[in-house]
Parts: sequence; structure tokens; C-alpha cells
Amino acid sequence: MFKKKYPLIPLRDTVLFPYQVVSLNVGRAMSLKALEQALAENRKVVFVAQKNKAKENPKTTDLYQMGCLAEIQQVNKRPDGSVQLLVEGLKRAKILEYHRQEPWFEVFIEEIEEKVVSDPETEGLAKNVIAQFRQYLETNKITLPLEILMNLFNVRDPNRLADLCASHLDLDTKDRQAILEAVETKERLIKISSILTREIKILQLGKRIQSRAEQELGKMQKEIILREQLKAIQKELGIDEEGEYGEISKKIQRAGMPPEIKAKALKELDRLKKMPPYSPEIPYIRTYLDWLVELPWSKKSKNNVDLKEAEKVLEKDHYGLKKVKERIIEYLAVNKLAGKIKGPILCFVGPPGTGKTSIGKSIAKALGRKFVRVSLGGIRDEAEIRGHRRTYVGALPGRIIFGIKSAGTKNPVFMLDEIDKIGVDFRGDPSAALLEALDPEQNHAFSDHYLEVPFDLSEVLFITTANITDTIPPALLDRMEIIPFPGYTEEEKFQIAKKYLLPKQIEAHGLTKSQLTIEDSALHDIIRGYTKEAGVRELERQIAAICRKIAKQIAEGNKKMFHIRSSDLAKFLGPRKYQLTMAEKKDEIGLATGLAVTEAGGEVLFIEAALMPGKGKMILTGYLGEVMKESAQAAVSYARSISQSLGINNNFYYKHDIHIHVPAGAIPKDGPSAGIAMATAVVSAITKIPVRKDVGMTGEITLRGRVLEIGGVKEKVLAAHRAGLKEIILPKENKKDLEEIPPNITKELKFHFVEHMNEVLGLALKLSKKEKPLFENKTSPSFSKPLVT
Ligand code: ADP
Repeated sequence: MFKKKYPLIPLRDTVLFPYQVVSLNVGRAMSLKALEQALAENRKVVFVAQKNKAKENPKTTDLYQMGCLAEIQQVNKRPDGSVQLLVEGLKRAKILEYHRQEPWFEVFIEEIEEKVVSDPETEGLAKNVIAQFRQYLETNKITLPLEILMNLFNVRDPNRLADLCASHLDLDTKDRQAILEAVETKERLIKISSILTREIKILQLGKRIQSRAEQELGKMQKEIILREQLKAIQKELGIDEEGEYGEISKKIQRAGMPPEIKAKALKELDRLKKMPPYSPEIPYIRTYLDWLVELPWSKKSKNNVDLKEAEKVLEKDHYGLKKVKERIIEYLAVNKLAGKIKGPILCFVGPPGTGKTSIGKSIAKALGRKFVRVSLGGIRDEAEIRGHRRTYVGALPGRIIFGIKSAGTKNPVFMLDEIDKIGVDFRGDPSAALLEALDPEQNHAFSDHYLEVPFDLSEVLFITTANITDTIPPALLDRMEIIPFPGYTEEEKFQIAKKYLLPKQIEAHGLTKSQLTIEDSALHDIIRGYTKEAGVRELERQIAAICRKIAKQIAEGNKKMFHIRSSDLAKFLGPRKYQLTMAEKKDEIGLATGLAVTEAGGEVLFIEAALMPGKGKMILTGYLGEVMKESAQAAVSYARSISQSLGINNNFYYKHDIHIHVPAGAIPKDGPSAGIAMATAVVSAITKIPVRKDVGMTGEITLRGRVLEIGGVKEKVLAAHRAGLKEIILPKENKKDLEEIPPNITKELKFHFVEHMNEVLGLALKLSKKEKPLFENKTSPSFSKPLVT
């Protein structure tokens, strides 16, 4: 091996490759001395990289073993004493031995000749490196000088290719040195390729992070920029000086608000304008302002109370309901004279489908006002009525203000449904807020928590509805006038079906009167066999079902005209659902037939009493309310008080338990009117005398057996009639209520008006001839001989 000796200059921060031409700064004393020697000899120097660039005076161990022999092309002295060199790399140089280390390095080297390899594998590797380098440049958006690129992509020698890449990549010294030390062509190509792969990956990752950051920032900036642009465009077009808020400002001016509310709205708008465009509060203030401007502060329907006209409308839209219509007309007359809404709020009470809503709509129609309906069922929270304060996230106004907004006028007919179904709990009492809304004395300034400003409800005609009065909060009940909708008789239902429901459904299904007719007897059969209700909702549904099926057949072109008879009903509505007469077929011991009013209207209740050996306990079941429980206790106490006259031993009660049960347990029942029926069932159970199944009864009972007046007579009588009862026992004081009931019904029933429980027992128990006289007095019975022991 041929050894040659050259001066050596350590490189701090870079690696020189063969064929590379670079400018280098030389300033260290040892380097300047080495340079001097080179310039004095053949201008050749070995450049070797330092392992640690921080070393000012490196030792031999601080230097790599592989360096590059280079020729000095130019030398420029600088004012500070350092020298700038232009050098060209010649060959790889491996240090074999140090000739001297002080005051500068001089080394023996082996000059490494490049082997030229040209097998397909090397060619493939080289091509790959070119492609990778291109990708690296593109990803890094580097534009290298053209000559370098040309150089690079035209290089045929794979050895030079790898060196060229390494010299132009932004690599640290270690990586470069690794390439320099790779003497074998393939090894060198593989190394540079793996470095390129790594670098490309790092670049791509960096880019992704950057673009995500840009996106985040971009969103915010975009909005600000767009807003600014919008303002500029609007200004250009002369649309509005104030930009997007101008529209709101105009709406505030046009909303017809009272001055203090307008001032409040303008203040909020001002706040909005001053907010930075990305403030999270902006949407909340905008929603609030939208509410303010959209409420009908001064918009109203003309109030034309033409009583004659109103009467006509009510008459035309509804059959019957004579008392209701009369009362409504009176109410309107008073309001007309007073010039504003006065007096109690109307409350329509009755089972579903008795026309409460539809009368409400008619009133609105008659007065030429808007109609809105809001259901209060299940409300427990005051905020549902009065809204949430704006400090809540997602706060909105309450149902009253919602209703007003959807009406769009400040004087609509406002129906509040199901006021018997509001509850009270820890979130406040909704009925108190409701009272404030309904009370004509204070509702000219109804305050909704969300609105923060008062709204005048004094021109709203409020109507409330309920199924029963028992559960209406007393404070509300006190302010309302109850207008009962007691339910319809079969004849009334028939008339309503024929004159209103059928024509309405025919039209709703796109049919004509000539296409569908229903025979009167068939209508009666629908009422009797397919519905069991106080109102006409189910009836309307059944008629709708027939219309639907016929519309389908006509649309299919099967037939043009239909005439429905009773015999056709099964085809359209399926088998009959209800039988006319009652389920109880036999006179039973301990089973009395009571009459009651529930949410679904009048109903027949079967009251069972049973005795069993026990310890004198009383058991009550069937979802009974407090009043009904007390009433049951009174009934049992009464029965006990007459036990001696019934011939019952005093010990009897200590040895037996009494169980009173009212079936249909899922329906809540309350009220005192089942008192006499319970007493009858208990006495029957004790005496073992059966109760007559066809006798219905209702009345409150006192401990002494007096029978007191009850309510809901019409509903109860209608229910008894529907159920096929023959005789009805009523308190004497209720005799007057029979006037309300159509004669064709009273004709079919036998009424007994009683004052004392003894009379009830005489009528309801199936007595033998011998027993009968005992119960005919208006006092308690007296037996000569015990019936039971
Ligand atoms: P409610 O509000 O009492 O539950 P609706 O007013 O909804 O009952 O009445 C149910 C249907 O019965 C409606 O289509 C209504 O027009 C009709 N209806 C009820 N009563 C009458 C009546 N007296 N005359 C005509 N149609 C009636």
C-alpha cells in the first residue's frame, strides 16, 4: 500500500465529500499552520470531522478515522486573521498514522479509490435514491440551484450519487460521516436511502402538525375576516351603515314595544355591537333579542264582539251544549260592556271528546281572534310557566310567552289544557305563576324570567280545561268559573255524528256526500257497539276508520258509491266491542253497583265487600283517594252501629276482617259519593242478603245513616243508562238535577230519591217478604231475631 503524508485540518461541524466544492473558514492556530504547510507544498489537505464540535483543541482520539483529501482552490485572508478557503474534495482518505500532532496534525493516509460497480441491483438502488431525493425536495419545498439538480439527476456513477445527496441534505455530522465511511457502493446507497426515508417521514409529520395548527387558527381568523368583509361589502352596496346589526335595530324600531322595553332592547343591542366578534355570549344575546322583537307587543286582532254573530257561530259549529253556549255569550256580553276582560276565568270541565277544545276554537272564530292551545299536563316546574332566567344555559321563555308568540297577537283566545294535571314540587309551584298570568288584576305586567321585561296579558282571553275539578289546585279553582261539559246521551251523540262528525270526516278524506252515506240505525250501532265513552272522540275515530277504508276502495276504482248498513259494520270495524248490558248477570252477596265520575266521565263502579275470619281489621283496595277511604270507614261504622238491629252479635266484628274493594284498580277514584253503595255492600256481606244487580246508587253517607247530596248527576245517570241499569237511587236533594237530563232517558229509568240509608237497603237488597217491612222506615232497621250470629 502506498502511504502518503499530508497536513490535516479538523472540521468542527461538517463533512467534506469527494467532488464537493465548498467554502470553509479556517481560524484555529493549528489549522492555519496546516494550511501554511499545504500551500507551501502541493495545496493538498486532509479534512477530517471532529466527533465533538465543541472541542477547541482536538486530540487524535477526537477525530474520525475517515476524511477527505482536498485541493485548495482559493485563499482569502480576512481582516480578523482567519482565512476563507475554497476547496474541492478529491478522494476518501483513511488515516493510517499520525506523523505529528503538534503544533499541527500531519498524517499518513490511504487514498481510497472508488470501485465502479454496475449490476442491476446497484442501478435499482440508485434509481430509488434519485426518486426519494426528488420527493424530499418536493416535500421540503426546496429549490436547489439548477446546475446541482442537473448534476444530481444526470450522475451515472452511483458512488457519486450517494455522496452528492449526502452533501446536499440537511443532515447532522454523524449521518454524513456514516456515508463517508461507507466505502462499498451498495452499502453507501442503502444507507443514504434509509436516511432519506427517515427525513421524508419527519418532514411529512411536521407538515401535518403545522396544517392542523393552521386550521385551528384559521377558523377563528376566518370568521373575523368574513365579518369584516361582510361589513365592507354592505357598506359598498350602501345596504346598511351599521352592518349586520342594522337589521335587528330596524326590527326593534318596528316591533311596537313600549318605550321602556324598547330602551332595554336597544341597550342589549348596544352590548352586542361592542362585543368582540368571537365572544361566546353573542348567540345568547341574539336569541334574546329575537324573542323581544318577535313578540306581539302591540299587534292585535280587531275585537269585534258582535254577540248575535258570535251566537250564530257557536250554534253552527256545535250541537247541543245549550247551557255552555248561553254562559259563553253572557261572558262575552259582560266583557263587551266592560271594554276589557273581567271576572273569573272560564274553566271547561268534562271528559275527553266533549267539545271543550272545539268550543274554544269557535269562540276565537266568533270574536275574530287567534286561537292558541298550550297543554299544562305534567308540569311541575314554575319555570315551565314563567321561563328560566337568562343565566341558565339554554334558557327560554315559559309556555305562556311561547303561546303568545305563536299566536302572533296580544289578544288571542288562549286555551290552557289539563290544568287539573299540574303538580307541585321542590322546583316551585306552577299554579302560583299561572295565577299571576290569569288574574286580570295583575296580568297587565306578567313577568317572564327569561324576558326580564313585563308583558301585558290583560287582553288575552284565557280559557282553561280540565277533566275533573278535584285535582285543580284550590287557589286556581277559586278564581275560575266552572262550566261543566257533562258528556252526551246516545241521542246527542247520534245527532253530533250525523250532522258534524260524518260530514267533517267525509271532507277530510276527500270524499263527497254522495259517495258515502251511513244509515241512522248503523250510526246508532256504532255508538252502542263500538264506543264506550262520555264524549265523541272514539266515535269520530270509528267514523274516520270507515271513511279511510271507503276512500281506499274508491281510489282503487272498485266501486263508486257506498251505503253503510248495520250489517256492514263488522266488515269495516271488526267485531262489536261492547255489549249493551252490564257484565254482572246475577244478584250477588256483598256486591253493590255505585255510580261515579272519573276523568273519563260518568262510570258504573262495582263495589265489593267481603268478610273473613280475623281480628276486626278493615282493608281497603282499588286505588282509593283519601276522601273515598274515609267514606268507606263511615260506611262500615254505620253498618256496625246498626248491628244490633241487624241482629248481629257485638263480638262479630272482633272476629272478622272486612275487605272493601273497588275493581278497575288502575283508575284513581275519589270522592264521597260511593258512600251508600259501600254501606250496602257491607250490610249485604254481613247479612248474606244479595244486592239487586240492576239498581245503581250514589250518595254520601253520614254515621247516622243520612244520605247527602252529591255532584255529577247527569254524568252518572248517563253512565247508568249506558250500562243498562233499570233503577237509580239518588239523594233527595239531587232531585232538581234531573231537569238537565233529556226526558227520553229519564223515561227509561226508575228513580228513587232517599234521605236515609235504611231506605237504600230496602230498595237495593233482595229481601224476602218477611224482611221487607223492616227497611221501609226512614230510620234504622230493627230485627226481632238475629239474622246472623
Ligand atoms: P275535548 O277538547 O273536550 O277533549 P274536542 O273539542 O277535541 O274535545 O272534541 C272532539 C271532537 O268532537 C271534535 O272533532 C269536536 O268538533 C267534536 N265535537 C264534540 N262535541 C261536539 C258538539 N257538541 N257538536 C259538534 N261536534 C262536537
